[in-house]
Amino acid sequence: MNDLFLKISRREIPSACVYEDAHFFAFLDIQPCNKGHVLVIPKTYSRNIFDIDSHTFGDLSKVVHMLARAVRKATGASGVNIVMNNEPAAGQEVFHTHVHIIPRFENDHVFSPPRHTTYTEGEMDTLAEEIQKHVET
Ligand code: AMP
Repeated sequence: MNDLFLKISRREIPSACVYEDAHFFAFLDIQPCNKGHVLVIPKTYSRNIFDIDSHTFGDLSKVVHMLARAVRKATGASGVNIVMNNEPAAGQEVFHTHVHIIPRFENDHVFSPPRHTTYTEGEMDTLAEEIQKHVET
């Protein structure tokens, strides 16, 4: 498999690494939304949220939690966005699980305003029940 991020985590392709442990690797995004934009990846392959196991995802979240603070301190950002794109419809372009940590500054206009939609009468309840039905604990 031609897994770009796996190659980066193995240092077969160079990157600006900001953190590494036995299971995770974090590096600067080459096309940052703002300077200091970090990507965090597991070293084991999964495509995205839909096939990563919950244990690895939990541990990945801990690394993101830790690095969000480091990114904020290092960049002087006012805030950060934690973003994960899953599948092309959601903007995923690299198919190895990764979480973006994006430093944000007042009025930096990184994202365009999100599009919102509305529910018809009763639709919220129906959809909430439908999602509840599919929850697998
Ligand atoms: P996504 O759209 O969530 O799949 O994001 C993939 C991200 O990977 C994009 O923000 C790219 O800028 C970033 N990216 C692609 N190739 C590299 C690379 N060689 N080094 C660092 N970041 C990369």
